[in-house]
Amino acid sequence: MKILICNDDGYQAPGIVALYEALKPLGDVEVVAPEHNNSAKSNALTLNAPLYVHRAANGFRYVNGTPADCVHIALTGLLGYRPDLVVSGINNGANMGDDTIYSGTVGAAMEGYLFGIPAIAFSQIEKGWAHIDAAAAKARELVQQCAAGGLIGRAPWLLNVNIPNLPLEQIRPLKVVRLGRRHAAEPVITQVSPRGETMYWIGAAGPALDEAEGTDFHASDHGHVVMTPLKVDLTDHDRLAWWAQAAAALQTGGQGGA
Ligand code: MN
Repeated sequence: MKILICNDDGYQAPGIVALYEALKPLGDVEVVAPEHNNSAKSNALTLNAPLYVHRAANGFRYVNGTPADCVHIALTGLLGYRPDLVVSGINNGANMGDDTIYSGTVGAAMEGYLFGIPAIAFSQIEKGWAHIDAAAAKARELVQQCAAGGLIGRAPWLLNVNIPNLPLEQIRPLKVVRLGRRHAAEPVITQVSPRGETMYWIGAAGPALDEAEGTDFHASDHGHVVMTPLKVDLTDHDRLAWWAQAAAALQTGGQGGA
């Protein structure tokens, strides 16, 4: 099994080092990851600046770009082969509910998925890397299960996985759940710079709004590893027919008024 690993916290982050060590025994594993922290970069690509790839002493390759840049260039020429699986993380902090839209960890996995490769984004729920080795063991377990179940090498899929910061024996079994929702973000933070200008810092993500049973927020609060299968189609299928009618009515109204 050929595995490409990326993340959004940067190639030196403890989460990607632990993930690499955990997955290394499973096959040919390569790391191509951002040079610096690129959290919340989603699927951003760098189109107006050159990208450079360097190799660190531990063999990891790092790029002066975004998570999606790393996976994109890895898959379109850098690796020279097609990996069987793209794995991202382990992120420093949860990526649940609306976080998935902004997450660079999810973005890196999604980039692999868009190229037709099965992909998994892994995050630890609390920041600070407590019990990162337990999270990495859980990540390896899931990758092994996917491989043993024949899920790799078939139609692509995209999984978002969050792991509680607990000792291995206290982590409860995997639950497949839907995404919850967060409140709108906390207010922007303003400060005055040393030069007297106002600086704006994006506020923290809001607390959970929809944390009902069956959501990622709920099950992870109860110590479970939580997994949500994601899709990329943003079409509002439920309201497609409603909008078709509304658009027709608007056109009719426009013609009537003309
Ligand atoms: Mn991050």
